[in-house]
Amino acid sequence: MITVDEAKRNLARHAVKLSCKKVPLLEAVNCIIAEEVKAPYAQPRAHNSSMDGIAVNYSSIESGLRSFQIIGEQRAGHPPLKLKNTEECFQIYTGGLIPQGCQCVIPVEDIDIKDGKACVKAEISFKKWQFVRKEGQDYKEGDILIHVGERITPLKVSLLAALGVAEVNVVSSPRIAVISTGDELVEIDQPCEQHQVRLSNAYTILAILKQFSFSSVNRFHVKDDKTEIVRLLNNTISRHDLIITIGGVSMGKFDFIPDVLKESGFETVFHKIKERPGKPLLFANSPTGKSFFGLPGNPVSSQLCTYHYIVPFLQRSAGQKPLLPEYAVLKENYIKEAPLTYFLPVKIVSDKGTVRAAFVKYSGSGDYLAMAKSDGYVELSIERQEFKKDDVVPFYRWGVN
Ligand code: AMP
Ligand code: MG
Repeated sequence: MITVDEAKRNLARHAVKLSCKKVPLLEAVNCIIAEEVKAPYAQPRAHNSSMDGIAVNYSSIESGLRSFQIIGEQRAGHPPLKLKNTEECFQIYTGGLIPQGCQCVIPVEDIDIKDGKACVKAEISFKKWQFVRKEGQDYKEGDILIHVGERITPLKVSLLAALGVAEVNVVSSPRIAVISTGDELVEIDQPCEQHQVRLSNAYTILAILKQFSFSSVNRFHVKDDKTEIVRLLNNTISRHDLIITIGGVSMGKFDFIPDVLKESGFETVFHKIKERPGKPLLFANSPTGKSFFGLPGNPVSSQLCTYHYIVPFLQRSAGQKPLLPEYAVLKENYIKEAPLTYFLPVKIVSDKGTVRAAFVKYSGSGDYLAMAKSDGYVELSIERQEFKKDDVVPFYRWGVN
């Protein structure tokens, strides 16, 4: 059995091979970008006005001139005009290019216009380049604006649109097979007898993968029958890059996954982690180099392991930087029963800028209600048994990346 940190280090040495595809800009939202984006030109491309007002020559206003003959209009979307006489000015509007010969914008609030002249109000003071958005102040030509592996958020769509990127090269979702196992499981739209369980986990895993835009997923179910499991594994492996099974990975008589993998020539990288929940997690590689996760069947275990291991594994494969935890201050004491890393669902209470974590009432790894009500989970290190109120611990928010 290995520790949580060892499991993470092991996983960091493996990856799923992913391909790229070009998609229209809006389809790229939430996807991971596969090539860097460079600025084709500076932003702003040329000096322009951030206010409506007049554009004047700075040296004339500095030397005391307060009244300027208006000789024209510099509107947004028009090429720059040229100021030849420093006693004259142009009316200018937000976004209008600064006319040649001007270095200062006086906003409309600070002037009176009468008989074709703009008179600057008495109490106003000036700075060179005031209310001018200067060429290249945001970025320069050739700057790298988006790096490989970054997720495309709506605000990055704004950047890409401004750069004229109508199609984006994004990482394709790997082809993932999610296989639930268990005689007791029934489909979610079927009647469920007292002795049966709805196979909710399969939906959870699909939902989490979808949340991170890994959406090329096929779902399968198999009974606790070794021959059937082998058959399904052989059928799915060639058509998928990653196989995730749910259940059948612990110590029970009908937990066939570890044996099936061994007999099918898989190389088990790790099986069992010193953690609660999620202890039986298994990671392996197929003889053809495909990746395999065996999730424990308990709902909380499989949810937790998917967020904590599978999502970061896929993100790293896609070139994304691994997720770093936030930190939270515990609201209560906690004493562990076993020398394991504990992951516990919490509700976050923001207290004047301090993130405080309150444990959600939680009965164990079958308690999916507690998970649905939580904001994320805290990690209580294997090193310590007792945690005190006000201790600061790593905190992972569901779905943040
Ligand atoms: P296992 O790891 O197969 O021993 O399963 C542990 C527990 O999780 C059992 O109570 C199973 O009924 C339950 N379980 C396994 N797979 C699922 C699933 N897909 N959805 C909901 N519960 C499941
Ligand atoms: Mg089972």
